[in-house]
Amino acid sequence: MKRPLIWGGIALLLAVAVFLVFDGGGRWIERRQYLMGTLVQIKATDDGAISAAFGEMVRLERLTSKEGEGELAQLNREARAGPVKASDELFSLLEEALQYQELTRGKFDIALGKLVDLWGFGEEGSEVPSAEQIERLLGERGVSLDRANKTVKLDRNSKLDLGGIAKGYAVDRAIQVLKDRGVEAALVDAGGDIRIYGSRPERFFSHRRFKIAIQHPRKESQILGTVQLSGDRAIATSGDYQRYFVRDGIRYHHILDPATGRPARGCISATIIAPTALVADALATGVFVLGPTEGLELIEKFPGVEGIIVGSAGEIHKSSGLNNLRLVY
Ligand code: ADP
Ligand code: MG
Repeated sequence: MKRPLIWGGIALLLAVAVFLVFDGGGRWIERRQYLMGTLVQIKATDDGAISAAFGEMVRLERLTSKEGEGELAQLNREARAGPVKASDELFSLLEEALQYQELTRGKFDIALGKLVDLWGFGEEGSEVPSAEQIERLLGERGVSLDRANKTVKLDRNSKLDLGGIAKGYAVDRAIQVLKDRGVEAALVDAGGDIRIYGSRPERFFSHRRFKIAIQHPRKESQILGTVQLSGDRAIATSGDYQRYFVRDGIRYHHILDPATGRPARGCISATIIAPTALVADALATGVFVLGPTEGLELIEKFPGVEGIIVGSAGEIHKSSGLNNLRLVY
């Protein structure tokens, strides 16, 4: 019993290596930790606050994982049999996620867990499921929230998967922890779901604005372009190039079209800039499934939200607020 625990401890220590960097007089600290299936990076000036922010993200990883001992996993085990009481926090997150489900006319879908498991993206030996296997899981995927009693009830084929929104939420919560501790400027990056803020970021970072590179969806070592963010902003990208496998020359990636139960085919990537990481994360996933035309229409409805979409033929679409942005492809 002991050995796995010791190994776990060593792995954790390695994962939280501390980097100290000096920048223009103000000292800022950069730390990384493997969380929520990705490498999370936090940059700020206060080591204690960074630890607290990581602590919050560890808590949320457990809360929002569809497997394991956390609350979402428990709902997934029990809420098909009957309504299950949820914590205020998880209930609110589910309510918010369902709003994006409505706004995207069901293209953003938090009840795809069984289909995601069936495809097994990224796991060794992933195979294309049969049409029968997929069709069996397409229907009966409702999620019922009882607002008065804060209970959740799942239909027969529903399994909650918050993979399209949980990282954004966790980034926002980490930012809130840093702000509550009086940290003046910070960056939290959960594998490309990024939020930055700074009352005077030039004291800590070399520029007043944060320049963020958007990875080229097809040329691994190239960037599509850069965007400048200032104030308090978030950016997130959903793409077909992060988690996928190739069979017979076809790329099968991890963002599913709920209508077909198969990888969505309208986009190569969708990048969203928004006031919060939750909005950026949810909309990036939803817009990716909607495709460029309907995706852009949705983006334009949100004040303070912009987007860059690479369509399936490699063509670039930008929202109206980014007309002057230069991108390469
Ligand atoms: P990433 O996790 O790579 O940042 P996304 O934010 O786009 O990418 O989330 C993709 C994850 O969301 C998938 O791995 C899966 O767990 C879940 N998911 C897949 N299809 C959908 C969908 N149509 N709507 C909501 N979530 C989805
Ligand atoms: Mg997302």
